[in-house]
Formats: sequence, structure tokens, C-alpha cells
Amino acid sequence: MMIKTEAQELAQIRVAMRGAEKIARLLEPAKLIELALERHGKDKVAVSWSGGRCSTVILHMALQICPCIKVFHIDTGVEYPETVRYVKRLACEWNLNLVIYKPERNFWDIVEKYGFPHMRLASSKGHTSKGKPACCTWLKEKPMMKFRKEHSIEAFITGMRAGEARVRMLIMAQRGQYYFVKKYGLNAWKYNPIAFWSTREVSAYVQEHNIPLNSLYEKLDRSGCWPCTAFVGWKEQLAHTNFKLYKFMMERMNEQRLLDHFYQTRIAPCAERG
Ligand code: SF4
Repeated sequence: MMIKTEAQELAQIRVAMRGAEKIARLLEPAKLIELALERHGKDKVAVSWSGGRCSTVILHMALQICPCIKVFHIDTGVEYPETVRYVKRLACEWNLNLVIYKPERNFWDIVEKYGFPHMRLASSKGHTSKGKPACCTWLKEKPMMKFRKEHSIEAFITGMRAGEARVRMLIMAQRGQYYFVKKYGLNAWKYNPIAFWSTREVSAYVQEHNIPLNSLYEKLDRSGCWPCTAFVGWKEQLAHTNFKLYKFMMERMNEQRLLDHFYQTRIAPCAERG
């Protein structure tokens, strides 16, 4: 498994900051949240909350400024059971103005049609070389677009950080702390208050404010879709985190391989012959 060191993470953050500083003066997280609320009005701003550590930190920050701020969560249908429980628990404990959306298609249907999600590699322009996996479009982007339209949202506050991935570093270096996203039909602003924070700073905030975290972090350093095959080391992580889900996944992958083989050897040649 590829593990990014703290030095690599900090180097990534520095690159992003240098680029972003050329676009606009960098703002402290709370100031950036206030700016979003000022520019768009509180009814048109939502916190995008995945149930992961970073988005919970910005959710906590946003609630200090606007306790009734809209909170948007997507239940992809392939969340870890820990995440589903955590979202329910925090919604009650923090009295969240929470809206949960579910995708129109499920992960397994998408995999059947497009295959398992591939790894995303950043090109120098900050785009991914193979484009986004289809599941990202169906499980995340489409529900987000639907929510934006139905709730007249103009801006999302996110927990995205430049140090997490090269793609994010490049986006923030080129576009700054906040920017308009037209791509994939989202048509909304994204504000990233902790764009230049390190993992260490995120953990310090969690400790300082005694924020209860998703219990998934006791076993794993990420949250998100459990059958995600789009990162190095996913197999080991899943086996370590939830062996039942890992076994289920292996069976599904085998079935898919058999189907692909059947298609390539039996169906495709006949189709070519007409
Ligand atoms: S996180 Fe992985 S599984 Fe989930 S939508 Fe994105 S690529 Fe697909």
C-alpha cells in the first residue's frame, strides 16, 4: 500500500498554497465560511458532509457560525455500516439540518455496465487521466446536482484538502480556496476552508473540540464507499476492516471476471461477424 509521508503531504500543501496565493489572499477557515454565507445567503449554502473526518471538522466550524446551516449527505448505498450509524448519531446529537440523498442507480448495476472503478491518476492539468469512474458520476455527482437544483443551492462548503491527493493539490493551486464548478453540470461554488491544512492540524482540531469521530477510523484511515477499487491497497484495507464485506466483494469480482470472459469469447466475436 502506498502511504504518503507527512513531508510529502506538506510539500503538496505548499505547492497548492503558492498557486492559490496568486489568485486571492488566503483566508482563515472561519472567514471563508463567513464569506460564503455573505455572498450567497445562508439558505443557498450547504455543507457537504460525508461522515469522514475532514468534512466533520468543517461541519463543526460551520455550525459555530450558522447553527441551522443546511447539511447535505449522500448515502451511496455502499457506505460502511459504521458511517451509516455515525451519520444518524451525529444528526441527533448535533441537531443537524440534514438532508440525505440516495443515488438513482446502485453501485452493483453500475459495475455490471462499466466495470469496477479504476484508479485515478492526475495529469499536469489537474484532470484525471482516465476520467472519473462511472460510479462517481452516478453515486455522487448526480445526487449532488439534484440536491442543488431542488434546494436552490449556490455554494457547497467542503472538507477537501490539497494534501490528500495530487488532483486536489493541482485544482487548488490553479483555482484557489474557492471556485465555481461548471464541470459535470454541477454549476455551484465550492468553498474549501481547510484546503491547506495538514492531517496533523485536522487531528489537533478534532482533539481540541472533542469531536466524536466515525468509529471506522479505529480500523481505517479513510471513510467512503467500501467497495472502492480506485486506490492502491484497497484489497488489504477492506480485508482488514471488514472481512465479511471483503469476501462478498471477492465473490462479486469473480462473477464479473467470468461475465467479461464470456462476453469477450462468446458474444463479441458473434457481434463482429454480424
Ligand atoms: S469513491 Fe470509489 S466507489 Fe465511491 S463513487 Fe468514487 S470511485 Fe466509486
